[in-house]
Amino acid sequence: MSTDSTDGNTSTDDNVSTDGNVGTDGNVSTDITADWNARFGHTMMRTLATPKVMLARGEGCRVWDVDGKEYLDFLGGIAVNSLGHAHPVLVDAVSRQIATLAHVSNYFATPPQLELAERLTRVTGAGAGGRVYFGNSGAEANEAAFKLARLNKGNGHRTRVLALNNAFHGRTMGSLALTGKPPMRAPFEPLPGGVEHIESTIAALEAAIDDHVAALFIEPIKGEAGVLDLPEGFLRRARELTEQHGALLIIDEIQTGVGRTGRWFAYEHAGITPDAVTIAKGIAGGVPIGALVTFGWASELFSRGQHGSTFGGNPLATAAGNAVLKEIEDAGLVENAARRGDELRAIIRSFDSPLIGELRGQGLLVGIGLTDGEAHRLSDAALANGLIINAPNESSIRLAPPLIVGDDELSGFRERFGRALASL
Ligand SMILES: *Cc1c(COP(=O)(O)O)cnc(C)c1O
Repeated sequence: MSTDSTDGNTSTDDNVSTDGNVGTDGNVSTDITADWNARFGHTMMRTLATPKVMLARGEGCRVWDVDGKEYLDFLGGIAVNSLGHAHPVLVDAVSRQIATLAHVSNYFATPPQLELAERLTRVTGAGAGGRVYFGNSGAEANEAAFKLARLNKGNGHRTRVLALNNAFHGRTMGSLALTGKPPMRAPFEPLPGGVEHIESTIAALEAAIDDHVAALFIEPIKGEAGVLDLPEGFLRRARELTEQHGALLIIDEIQTGVGRTGRWFAYEHAGITPDAVTIAKGIAGGVPIGALVTFGWASELFSRGQHGSTFGGNPLATAAGNAVLKEIEDAGLVENAARRGDELRAIIRSFDSPLIGELRGQGLLVGIGLTDGEAHRLSDAALANGLIINAPNESSIRLAPPLIVGDDELSGFRERFGRALASL
């Protein structure tokens, strides 16, 4: 049975498309687990495969299941738990904010909302010309970006939107239209029109772009597809061509952003500035939030009444975001992601296993290419050995541990991953 565990799973198996569900072969035998398995199977929508583990609590980079078994978490809720679990800074900020003011509607401003908007324009590099729209998820951030793209009309001639094959942008109708995975889109067509998917090569981009393009969407490291890097120079060329043709360059940093790759945002590695960036997963450490940040002229496109969200930007979620971003700065976690990412890669390379092929990604977003289609068996074996990793497809392992990982967690990874490899 499939225990696929990604947003971007395009397997044809019945049990697809779970979000963060980590499967295992470990037989569960106690009454409490047998009971929740049945309950899950009966009441949860069939979009989710029934997980094999039910988690009860977490602390730092560790979680415990309902039977008390401990796991080292090297997936971090798919790049969401930037500060790990139950971090005191986040617990304190959220507790204080919910006891003060949780939600007010967008007829009112609140201090945490403005503070987070200012932080985001600063860390993205959008600066004084930047603007922020808040939603509640990655998909919503991309929906906002899609609407932004439609507003870049030219004289009505900009009708094309370009996106990349195999890129994942979300599950709502608009973000699904951008997603470059036909099997995921097919059951839900017709989707919003005008989106064309191209190969992630400079040649394909040069051939596709013209003055009719309103926007180019790029996922800078394709996380759901198995942590696939773009070709060298792709982002720089994309910046040149979009600028030349008046198209928006929109970078989806939902998985790669907020320090994950060892820079605040993955586009910094290429030395470019986009026109818009979408952010979500890692911003608020597990409290739902998404954001679209615009730069320069892109900040002038939306006008009053053209977009909105009831929950978007509420003081509870934005207070969580402020706490997480401040802690990332105070504790030097962007630098930690770069350094620990190097150490993690060195550990993986040190295993003399014929199964391990290339290493992909950057910082603490690590893709392990397997030489054989054993990814699900390996992630199941890891789970049985007390280690949470993820198999986005049969030939890739994805790691996205909390940005706080240190020596202790890395040596725990070495030991448990080694045992999992040896057990195959
Ligand atoms: C997770 C993800 C999304 C969708 O985010 P949701 O919060 O699940 O809607 C979009 N783009 C990328 C690159 C992602 O990793």
